[in-house]
Amino acid sequence: MKISVKAPAKINLTLDVLHKRNDGFHEVKMIMTTVDLSDRIDLVELDIDKIMVEVSEGFVPSDERNLAYQAALKLKQRYNITKGVYIYITKNIPVAAGLAGGSSDAAATLRGLNQLWNLGLSIEELASVGREIGSDVAFCVYGGTALATGRGEIIEPIASPPPGWVILAKPPIGVSTADIYRRLQVDKVSHCDETEMIRAIETKNFQGICNNLHNVLEDVTFSLYPEVQNIKDQMKKFGADGVLMSGSGPTVFGLVSKESRLNRVYNGLRGFCHDVYAVRLINQPHS
Ligand code: ATP
Repeated sequence: MKISVKAPAKINLTLDVLHKRNDGFHEVKMIMTTVDLSDRIDLVELDIDKIMVEVSEGFVPSDERNLAYQAALKLKQRYNITKGVYIYITKNIPVAAGLAGGSSDAAATLRGLNQLWNLGLSIEELASVGREIGSDVAFCVYGGTALATGRGEIIEPIASPPPGWVILAKPPIGVSTADIYRRLQVDKVSHCDETEMIRAIETKNFQGICNNLHNVLEDVTFSLYPEVQNIKDQMKKFGADGVLMSGSGPTVFGLVSKESRLNRVYNGLRGFCHDVYAVRLINQPHS
């Protein structure tokens, strides 16, 4: 038996860091939402008790370092499953981009194996396995739009934003999330007000969402990679309604409410950035 699952990317509408914890992680507060740029995960049942992974992009590891591999292994261990699986990952989400591609692959693998192996687990049970893999995996199990707290693994689903377009632009650099957090001076950040963002989302106020975009990691990434700031400036210039860096970067996204303006922003960015995508906001969580 074989099934295919979509693994959508996420963007941060807000990202705040409250303090550094004793365990070394940072206490964060973020509003994340899924966008329609997805990897594809094909899962094929194996007769032997083995996890095999192949990835369309050769530079992504296909061994136990792959987050989809770790998802399958954790699920097998927690529920004593002796079946095997072959996982083929078609990458469309740029890697190390601040879009949680690897985490989403892991989450889609959990959702898919729940079906393939007839486990009957709830989304919360799958998210609990996901939390052991990485901070963003639990959010990706839920999908939709959510407030994430703790180190990002405590998920509170919220309403969906109104329909809209997202332009994603990734300069040709990889950013280490750990490095950006290490350089962040937490006592100097200007915190954001998530309640305003949540209100804008709940009232489907697109301009309100654009006005409340905030990411405290932007300044750190911009100081290391001025080209990321440049993309943000260009995206504003070409007419996006709201612009922000996602996660620790380097991807910058622009929100556009009107399809008529989408092409102008997209084509403008294509002029000096190779990786540019125009996609929709996804308005539904995973069931
Ligand atoms: P986040 O936004 O959660 O910080 P990211 O988008 O910045 O994530 P990923 O694309 O998830 O970063 O990749 C980070 C690293 O994870 C890569 O360098 C890669 O080696 C490793 N990795 C493990 N599994 C995967 C996977 N399935 N897809 C992509 N990268 C993976």
